[in-house]
Amino acid sequence: QGDRNDFDSEVKSICPFCGVGCQVSIKVKDDKVAYVEGINGPSNEGRLCVKGRFGFDYIHHGHRLTKPLIRRDDAPEKGLNVDPSNPWTHFREATWEEALDFAAKGLVDLRSYYGGKSVAGFGSAKCTNEEAYLFQKLIRQGFKHNNVDHCTRLCHASSVAALMENVGSGAVTASFNEIENADVAIVIGANPTENHPVAATYFKQFTKRGGELIIMDPRGQNGLKRHAAYNLQFRPGMDVALLNAIMNVIVEEKLYDRQYIEGFTEGFFEFREHIRAFTPERMAEICGIDAETIRSVARTFADARAAMIFWGMGVSQHVHGTDNSRCLISLALLCGHVGRPGTGLHPLRGQNNVQGASDAGLIPHVMPDYQSVADREVRDLFRHIWRGTEIEETPGLTVVEIMDRVYRGEIRGMYVLGENPAMSDPDVDHARKALAKLDHLVVQDIFLTETANYADVILPASALPEKSGTVTNTNRQVQMVRRAVPTPGEAREDWEIVVDLARRIGLDWDYDDPREVFDEMKMSMRSLHHITWKRLETESSVTYPCNGPEDPGQAVVFGDGFPRRAGRAKFTPARVTPPAEAPDKDFPMVLTTGRQLEHWHTGSMTRRATVLDAVEPEANCSIHPATLRQMGVEAGGRVRLTTRRGSVEIMARADRNVAPDMVFLPFAYVEAAANILTNAALDPFGKIPEFKYSAVRVEAADQP
Ligand code: SF4
Repeated sequence: QGDRNDFDSEVKSICPFCGVGCQVSIKVKDDKVAYVEGINGPSNEGRLCVKGRFGFDYIHHGHRLTKPLIRRDDAPEKGLNVDPSNPWTHFREATWEEALDFAAKGLVDLRSYYGGKSVAGFGSAKCTNEEAYLFQKLIRQGFKHNNVDHCTRLCHASSVAALMENVGSGAVTASFNEIENADVAIVIGANPTENHPVAATYFKQFTKRGGELIIMDPRGQNGLKRHAAYNLQFRPGMDVALLNAIMNVIVEEKLYDRQYIEGFTEGFFEFREHIRAFTPERMAEICGIDAETIRSVARTFADARAAMIFWGMGVSQHVHGTDNSRCLISLALLCGHVGRPGTGLHPLRGQNNVQGASDAGLIPHVMPDYQSVADREVRDLFRHIWRGTEIEETPGLTVVEIMDRVYRGEIRGMYVLGENPAMSDPDVDHARKALAKLDHLVVQDIFLTETANYADVILPASALPEKSGTVTNTNRQVQMVRRAVPTPGEAREDWEIVVDLARRIGLDWDYDDPREVFDEMKMSMRSLHHITWKRLETESSVTYPCNGPEDPGQAVVFGDGFPRRAGRAKFTPARVTPPAEAPDKDFPMVLTTGRQLEHWHTGSMTRRATVLDAVEPEANCSIHPATLRQMGVEAGGRVRLTTRRGSVEIMARADRNVAPDMVFLPFAYVEAAANILTNAALDPFGKIPEFKYSAVRVEAADQP
């Protein structure tokens, strides 16, 4: 850290990691980040976690891509075989002109020979709103279809599906900071102390002033549980059984808010009949939580003056992820815990701009602001704004569906901006084989990622502290990102690269600045009403929806009705659906995957951050000590994890919080890639894979 007064300039921007969206002051010395401090943003009030405070030096790592690269004619066969510090047997340097021409020609040739649908695009939640908007526009306008998606498909797609269906909006109904006005909060399938650490500080403060925290978490490693009034470690995959039993108690004991239900909802009577079968006694056997605890939790939630529900990917990443979220929505509606201070539904968003990228239309079935591609008026609006472009009315393919079509040879070219499907897709061996089959793969990134190993051309791009634009956090706060340091070498800002590529595939684009893109977005996005670039430059953050030029925006929404028919939210009954594969004698345990405090997603950034990598340098999994003993493995010894898809060997950490029949595996480590093991089975509504449940065999591995 050195002398804290020794810096040349200070730039206010946003942390590049999680969806909390902490505001930071980046101190710059000699065009490099000297150090970072938290400032008084609405979601962090000066606080930062270890990633925000110590994780920025990945941007100066020697592996940064600084020149465009083109695959050599005599390169070895495509595979996960490129050394990022010595890629020269596979790639050669190129000028920007040559690389962009080559990238565009490959895509245009495929479009000419096989049609537009032979090309698909993956954008990124790590880019700005403007970049996400441009990327989806390039695919929709340039290739005339909607096969464009990003990692929201892998995190909260099922939550958004349920929220859109039942509430009429895919975003949170209240900021997480509203917990200060609540007296009860449920946190289910989330581990905020590791994944949303600054949000977790607000949750802890809530308990210190007497708030009752209810943790529901099969994995058991929840850092909040010592602050909780209830800790329900239910059986993995049995969320619906537990939640329906809680709602059964609320219905049978008439604890629900009749006035709210009559005034603001529909479908209650059918729902009430449905829920009667899910008695706590019956569900206790299924979910593993005793009936009295279920009753007590139900009464606590229903009796609360104001209560909130927070959830994470433990809820969403299941084949029944949409049903899980439907239950949470119904629970809040039953008790009228929506639309008032201290109440609300809050899926904690993962990546720093997954909310904004989704808002900007980087998803295959909706245009910006979740306007359906199937709606003629929506298509007419975009035809007008996009100067005559016809929008395809058929919803596009999602991430896993696209990769399946690539594997089958139906999609032959891809443009991947900032995503890493060679690490992040379920059943990743299948995804890697698919990527190797592509005729033409354009990868735009800051590092030579596992996906870039398969590229035909690599375009060196920018990290968040090197770019300007806006991002939107989990709280619906649109915030200003400011360029603090220059891009290294010849690397360029992502929006510029997308624009140059668009022009080369024949699009008539003339943007000179992200601000022009933002102004175009405002033409179709009601969510940006009263939010201007100028305001963001001075205020740094404005929450949507925003009711006027002086309004900081609405932290709590839907107090006077929902954006659905007749202003009413809907109860949608859910049944218990088992996970896609059950443990058996060959694969007797349950594998669940997730993040660690120090590492971020596929590890491409945090494993190159000096402090973070020093704290958590080695791939590891967590197993109960009794289970390790049974296998004859010491804590710190190596185990082999095997599922129906593959096998990895990894160091085992003893953790008595993890259930004895479960193993937790972080997904940041390429040397033991979690997604070699995970199941690609999809939730039918959100099309999200079941990352949180695979049947696995765990055994002692040969020691190194
Ligand atoms: Fe960054 Fe999230 Fe940590 Fe805040 S909580 S500093 S946004 S990683």
